[in-house]
Amino acid sequence: MKVIESITGMKQARWGLSGPVGLVPTMGYLHEGHISLVRRAKKENPSVVVSIFVNPTQFGPKEDFKKYPRDLPRDLALLEQAGTDVVFIPPDAEMYPSDYNTWVDMEKITGRLEGAARPGHFRGVATVCNKLFNIVEPAKAYFGQKDAQQVLVIQKMVKELNMNLEIVVCPIIREPDGLAMSSRNTYLKPDERQAATVLYRSLQLAQKLYDDGERDAGKIRRQMTALIQKEPLAHIEYISIADAANLEEQDKIVTPALVSMVVKIGLPRLLDNIILK
Ligand code: AMP
Repeated sequence: MKVIESITGMKQARWGLSGPVGLVPTMGYLHEGHISLVRRAKKENPSVVVSIFVNPTQFGPKEDFKKYPRDLPRDLALLEQAGTDVVFIPPDAEMYPSDYNTWVDMEKITGRLEGAARPGHFRGVATVCNKLFNIVEPAKAYFGQKDAQQVLVIQKMVKELNMNLEIVVCPIIREPDGLAMSSRNTYLKPDERQAATVLYRSLQLAQKLYDDGERDAGKIRRQMTALIQKEPLAHIEYISIADAANLEEQDKIVTPALVSMVVKIGLPRLLDNIILK
């Protein structure tokens, strides 16, 4: 496994790789969710590149960029084990030199949910993904359904800017008690970690209500809210039931519908979702 810490180094190494490349963009502090993407990429491509880059431009001024968890030696051991060919760790100053000027700004889809809660977030995400795609030139790039809106944003960018790669979406990997794996789960204290199971329980409740024939999105949202409010450490930021293709909120559920939520427990904003089919 090669570890490359410059853009020119990555471009050179790219031409030494055999066949089409699968790219897995990450911010590091890896867990089984990330590794599931690497395994899928490994299955579908002769060569796999994983990027580790805590992208400063997708963090708001009051967010956790500086504190974001990092553990490079552990990440490298996990990636080696998973059969990664190249780990690309670009320096901030090469990705964004002081006179940096070029951005991918998307409308509509970035104005809702996470885009509304975190102004500028998706501008940073779309821009860094565009840069990584240009540097690595993958045939396929792998993203987790955990960040459902991110997947829609990247798919739309690739389509609308006529980029030559396929976006592969992989299922959410969960802890045994249902909590979606996330690098930020490390911020949770033991009682908060326990409380965090309420997200998945509320999504399962939504699925059950839907399976039992409920189609009124407002009623489902109210029952989810009531369940989460029983957990004193949990603070709901939003619960959305929206068209899975364009994220427009629904009153009557038409499938596929994305039920997504952010609940703050202690420090982190925890994200989770399911798709009702
Ligand atoms: P991050 O390092 O948080 O930027 O995540 C890198 C990639 O891993 C993104 O495409 C995420 O959606 C994906 N990912 C993060 N957590 C999970 C999870 N629990 N299951 C599946 N994919 C995940």
